[in-house]
Amino acid sequence: MAIGTAEYIWLDGERPTQQLRSKGRVLEFSEGKGPALKDFPEWSYDGSSTYQSPGNHSDLLLVPVHFCIDPLRGDDSYLVLCEVMLADGTPHKSNTRALLRSVLSAGAEKEQPWFGFEQEYVLLSEGVICGFPEAGYPSPQGPYYCGVGIDKAFGREVVESHLTACLEAGLMIYGINAEVLPGQWEFQIGHRGFSNEQGDTLRVTDEMWLARWLLLRIAEEEEFGVTFENKPVKGDWNGSGCHTNFSTAAMRKAETGLAAIQTAVERLQKNHAAHVLVYGDKLEERLTGQHETCSILEFRAGVANRGASVRIPQQVFAKKCGYLEDRRPGANCDPYLVASRLLLTVCAIDDAKVCAQNPNFQACLTQKTETLAAAPA
Ligand code: ADP
Ligand code: MN
Ligand code: MN
Ligand code: MN
Repeated sequence: MAIGTAEYIWLDGERPTQQLRSKGRVLEFSEGKGPALKDFPEWSYDGSSTYQSPGNHSDLLLVPVHFCIDPLRGDDSYLVLCEVMLADGTPHKSNTRALLRSVLSAGAEKEQPWFGFEQEYVLLSEGVICGFPEAGYPSPQGPYYCGVGIDKAFGREVVESHLTACLEAGLMIYGINAEVLPGQWEFQIGHRGFSNEQGDTLRVTDEMWLARWLLLRIAEEEEFGVTFENKPVKGDWNGSGCHTNFSTAAMRKAETGLAAIQTAVERLQKNHAAHVLVYGDKLEERLTGQHETCSILEFRAGVANRGASVRIPQQVFAKKCGYLEDRRPGANCDPYLVASRLLLTVCAIDDAKVCAQNPNFQACLTQKTETLAAAPA
């Protein structure tokens, strides 16, 4: 037998944005081909300290759902993503992954959906955005996007350590780049076009949370802060988004591709308000119509248009098949909620049918945040 570690990772109940929590445990694994999911036992924690239960009845259950190699602790170490359950085994109301599972089994899964998320974020050093002076502003945006050199790229050591960690963990990391705002970066998780690899909804959304956890953890080690705020600097500076790339089997086939994408766009247009409701806190601060966004009050779709709500990439239009990019989700979105909402709309699944399975799902899909007030009726 080998002694190793497992870091159990879950989402807490913070509002308006759920945060990551984790705790470590030493486990005994049998020698040989490495553990399976069932080798990680269920575990409990104090939900009264995570905004998830009252103090007098606070034990909640961590049920492992996805694990990978822990690139930080070395041999026989794993990261174990968990769903939060009540003592009776039903999902806690903060468990948006349970909603996503229900959407998949209500008809979305059979359309073989694939995802790819572009996670933007901003690095801070001693509370100041990397590349910003202690007071005031750096020189205007322009040279920083994909820039190189000490006056253009700020905090790259974190980005490189994170990329290496994601690769060692075996996550579906697609790439990284420096973004438009100084100190702003992006990583992508999702379909990569590799043989024998797709972009399955649960795998990609789970890995987004694992990649976010790794980023926070590595930045902590290197003494950097990370913010996923939608609009960390007000004014003429780009916000941080989480563009969500999405396809179904029909969209990926040349014969049906453009027609399926067109149908998806029409459905997305009709449901715009329901989408922006669950695409992240303070979304209206970022979706202004400036800085490569479309206003939260409008829905626009277009080929190669980075000022649209939904963009059809140029090469997708040329090939007549592929995927679409929903540019609306904010950097602080919950990928489980974004994927749930996209699948409900694009696969034309009745919200009521899914919500009937669990009374908490309705609340997940109608989160009341500041975004609600700004969204069109
Ligand atoms: P952008 O040009 O918008 O910056 P990126 O190069 O940053 O795009 O990211 C491309 C994203 O598209 C990746 O997240 C990738 O996983 C995703 N993607 C590529 N093909 C597909 C597909 N067929 N279905 C879903 N997502 C896809
Ligand atoms: Mn990108
Ligand atoms: Mn970007
Ligand atoms: Mn994009």
